[in-house]
Amino acid sequence: MAYKAGFIAMLGRPNVGKSTLLNHLVGRKISITSSRPQTTRHRLLGIRTDETSQMIFVDTPGVHLTGKRYINRVLNKTARSALEGVDVILLMIAAGGWTEEDRLALDLAGQHKIPVILLINKIDRLKDKSRLLPLLEASAAMYDFEEIIPVSALQGENVDVLHDRLLSYLPDSPQLFPAEQTTDRSDRFYISEVIREKLFRSLHHELPYALAVEIKQLVFEDGLVKADAIIWVEKQSQKGIIIGKSGGNLKAIGSAARKDLEKYFSTKVFLQLWVKVRENWSDNAQMLRTVGYLEEE
Ligand code: GDP
Ligand code: MG
Repeated sequence: MAYKAGFIAMLGRPNVGKSTLLNHLVGRKISITSSRPQTTRHRLLGIRTDETSQMIFVDTPGVHLTGKRYINRVLNKTARSALEGVDVILLMIAAGGWTEEDRLALDLAGQHKIPVILLINKIDRLKDKSRLLPLLEASAAMYDFEEIIPVSALQGENVDVLHDRLLSYLPDSPQLFPAEQTTDRSDRFYISEVIREKLFRSLHHELPYALAVEIKQLVFEDGLVKADAIIWVEKQSQKGIIIGKSGGNLKAIGSAARKDLEKYFSTKVFLQLWVKVRENWSDNAQMLRTVGYLEEE
């Protein structure tokens, strides 16, 4: 059987259970790629790579907002184009029934000729499963869904079924991302630039000229951006300067960088900085590549 790979858009109002489902589909340690909407069309939520398939889950900007802003964003071209090129749309509602926000999400999903699977989440909350029937019927009457799958993202109920069903929507394709893909280079680069800027500001003439910032890890999770960065210097004395008295300088750098990044990502940022010494790193091509000074081959 040919390898399959494709894009799956996750659509649904806040709190409906998207992240919970992704945790089940992608695994504990979600490797998430995020790209600014203006640089890349898709914001990747997670990638699941198996022996026979690769599923790339993408976020749909604009459906995570409420009220008028939400509507504006839905009408926004960016939100629409986020769905272009995806192979299948997962629209999630909760077992409690359709809300106005759910309908807006459906409007957005329905603007494309892309198959839409409706997920009815939180079925574990229903004491009596027969109460699902009217909701299934009403939903089927609202739109020509490819399928309607009741799930419990929290308990993992029917998540395997969903995964198997999703396979049939993916085209034959080689893997699109390395199995260990964690994140997008441009976000890493931006974060390292912000940290460098703060380093320059705080250190002035004391600045060790041989200095580089490596983003060790970048994870987007539950509305939080977690970044681990290493500041590479060449000498122990330089390390001391950056860290400052009882870590005060490094703390200030981290806090200033975090503030900028929270604006950039429009979300909370958890930033951890380490300072490490590696002699003559600037002569080392591998090291330069790691910190983004050289293009990948
Ligand atoms: P998101 O905003 O769509 O990403 O929603 P989250 O995944 O963050 O879930 C919002 C809340 O709903 C959390 O408290 C989850 O634990 C809860 N939740 C998600 N899926 C289920 C489910 O299947 N059953 C129940 N009972 N709660 C769920
Ligand atoms: Mg979420």
